[in-house]
Parts: sequence; C-alpha cells; structure tokens
Amino acid sequence: MPLVKRKTNIEFTPLGGGREIGSNSYLVRIDGRDVILDCGVHPKKEGYPALPDFSLLTRAPDAAIISHGHVDHCGALPELIKRFPSVTPCATTATVSIMDRMLHNSVAVMGTLARERGIREYPLYSHEDVDSTIRRTLGIRLGQDFLINRRKDMTARFFHAGHVLGGASVLLRTPGHTLFYSGDICVADQELVAGLIPLDTSIKVDTLIIESTYGANAEADGVRYEDEIDRFAEAVRDVLEDGGVALVPSFALGRSQELLNIIARLQETGQLPDVPVLSSGLGRAIYEVYSLFPEYLRSDANLRPLSRFGRTGDTWNPRAVRKLLSEPTIIIATSGMMVENTPSALITQEMVRHTHHGIFFVGYLDPDSLGYKLLHCRPGDALQFQLDAPPVKVKLENIRWFYFSAHAPREALCNVIRRIQPKNVVFVHGDPGAIDWMYTHASNGCAKFAPTVGETIILET
Ligand SMILES: [Zn+2]
Ligand SMILES: [Zn+2]
Repeated sequence: MPLVKRKTNIEFTPLGGGREIGSNSYLVRIDGRDVILDCGVHPKKEGYPALPDFSLLTRAPDAAIISHGHVDHCGALPELIKRFPSVTPCATTATVSIMDRMLHNSVAVMGTLARERGIREYPLYSHEDVDSTIRRTLGIRLGQDFLINRRKDMTARFFHAGHVLGGASVLLRTPGHTLFYSGDICVADQELVAGLIPLDTSIKVDTLIIESTYGANAEADGVRYEDEIDRFAEAVRDVLEDGGVALVPSFALGRSQELLNIIARLQETGQLPDVPVLSSGLGRAIYEVYSLFPEYLRSDANLRPLSRFGRTGDTWNPRAVRKLLSEPTIIIATSGMMVENTPSALITQEMVRHTHHGIFFVGYLDPDSLGYKLLHCRPGDALQFQLDAPPVKVKLENIRWFYFSAHAPREALCNVIRRIQPKNVVFVHGDPGAIDWMYTHASNGCAKFAPTVGETIILET
C-alpha cells in the first residue's frame, strides 16, 4: 500500500507583532502542542501594555523558541516563565549569552523608569527572574536538530539569519507540517556577521512566517553598504578635522560592535584619523559576547580586542562629558534612537550647544523618538535630553542619518519567499504599510496572511 503523508493544519496567533513592529511573539498550535516563537517587549509601550498578550495563552506552552537577543524578541521571556514555569525556552548558544546581558540591563532600565516616571509595575521582573530564565534556557548550536519537549515527533533547527550575533531563523517540523520562522534576517554580509545562509531548496516548507520590517522602505533597495561606509567616513573625517567630536548613537546589540570594527578598519587604512574611539556600557558588555562566539562571525571577520576602544565614562557628569568633547574623538554610544537619559542623549545635551561637532545616526529612528526629533529640528529649536533638566537650544547643524540596516530590504524579502516557495506565507513584524506592501508584491501563488494581534488563522498543508 502506498504511504500517505499525514497532513496537519496548524493554528497561528500573534500575541504581539501582528501588523506592527510590536512585542514580537507568536503562538503556534500544532498537533495539540503550543510553541511560542519569540517573546519580546513593545519598543514604544511601557508597563504591562509592552508585553505580548499572554491572556491569549489558555495553557502552558511546551516551548518558547527565541530567534535573537533584541528585546523586542526576547524582553518578555522572564515574564512568560514567571507565569508558566514549565516552559522550556530554546535559543542559539550565543543568543543565550546575549539575552543574559540584555535582560539584566532591562531590569535596570525598568527600575530607572519606575523611579523617574512612576510606572508602578516596573520592574516587571527581577534579576533573580532573569537568572532563572537563563538557567532554564537550552542553548542550541546552529544546524542541529533538537526535540521540542518530550514527545519525539516534533523537532526544530536553527539556521544562521545574519542580522546580529547568534541571530537565527527556525525550522519547526512535525510529520504533518513544516514551518519556517525567519526571525529578523539580513541578506548582505556586514563587517562582522555574514548574511543569512539560504534554506536548502530540498526542504519543503508548508508555512513561512516572515519579518516585514522594511516592507515600506523603497530607499533601502538601492543602498550599497560600501558606498554608505564611504559617505560615513567622509562625514566623520570632516568633523574631526574641524576639531570636533563625532557621536554615533547606536543600538547596543549589533550596530555598536559592527561600527566599532568599521571605524577601526577605516583608521587602519588611513581613511579616518587615528583619534580615540570610545564606546558605552551595554555595547561593551555585548562586545565581550561577540568575542566569546567567533563561530557565529564571518570566517574572515577581524574582531578587534575590546581594549582597542576606550570608555565613555560617567555621562551623567556634565564636566566629564565636556572633557570628552574637548578633543577630536569618535564616540559610539547607546541608545540608537537617543532615548532621553541614555548616554547618547546625555552627550548630545552638551554637544548641541556648539557648532563644530557632528551627530550621525545609523539605525532605525521611530518618528516619536528624540533622535528623530533632533534629526528633523531647525537650528534654535529646544529639545529635552534629560528628563529632569530643562530643554536645550540646538545650535549644532551637522546632524545626519546613514543607512546601515541589519534588516533585509523588501526586494530581498520577496526573493526569500520565491526561493522557499511555501504553501502559506504569513507576514509579521512590520508597520501596516510595510505588511501591505509585502502582501501585495510577494506572490508565488502561495496563500498569504497578515493577522493582527489576537487573530487566529488556520494554515493548511
Ligand atoms: Zn532584531
Ligand atoms: Zn526585530
């Protein structure tokens, strides 16, 4: 008798990240088991509303698979474990170490917000909760099949996704359904992390869940990474030659480590003068993780020792900041969107009183962020950089933005879909405009879905 392949439909529900950048977290119900893909906090919300909608979980999930260490993908994991202590989280070995740093930092940030803004529920979890979450999390190597919980017919495997150290897509397989979740993907090689390794076309995927971050960004398709580095080098060099400081606000995970090594290379090749290069706290802590997991970097990556770069020191001390600004220097400081009270905002507070410095953004700026407001302000506008201090008049005009994204541009996302040829494609993790562009333009005859948070869709094989 011929073998008939079993078919299994699955239920898919965004707990966050459906038609939004959001608190990415997706519930997959497959053969009576619940698996959570990512468990992030919303970058623009505070308190309980920043969490994924855990009320949609009617029972303890079997597993929580984390794609990478950005907090919009893992920042709610300790809260999930508090609510469902039996859940087993899984991530790549590098991501487990990164989560350790990122989640402890989140506890500290939430503590500060509780004091400064009176958010009573903060911190949502404690350092002890983070420690127990990290202890429970299985660290898995790329390319290795692992079992989801005790039933032996559901396996998962991580694939290199580019983006940041440890960043992975995940292939989830049962006898009746194969699902591929992209996580955040970057197709192009970066300075340290190689672009994604395309999924072998011999693997038949029933359902592809794909990020859509740059779905609404037409400019990204035409940018060449090396051209952008040249433009960036020229801007930084001009500032240093005028005796100023170049500040590059940067995300702690990924962008900071990449840029420090780009700048080191530009100094070594003589494209930038040999001035001190400084970096701030969390970016340095993550840098150490980069040095512990060279197997996740490009084989030809030249990761300089962290000691090559100085420290920004206490950015809360205005005298110390003025000293930092007294000679030509390059500073890479968090946060990338220049959230008030972070090192990049505190340094900028002093910089904007002068005209000879330069501030160069290199990542996504939310329109509500201080960084976006600074980039678009007119000379003489006043902005508040420190929550308990008065606004400061912006004299500085040399404020620019460079395209150094670690996300795939939308045409590349469409190519990923064409190559995998799934039966179903589900667009997640994008603003409505981005999701709609992807939904309209990505067509290979597959069934397309773009569920909102809380909406359950059925994906057939
Ligand atoms: Zn990410
Ligand atoms: Zn993301």
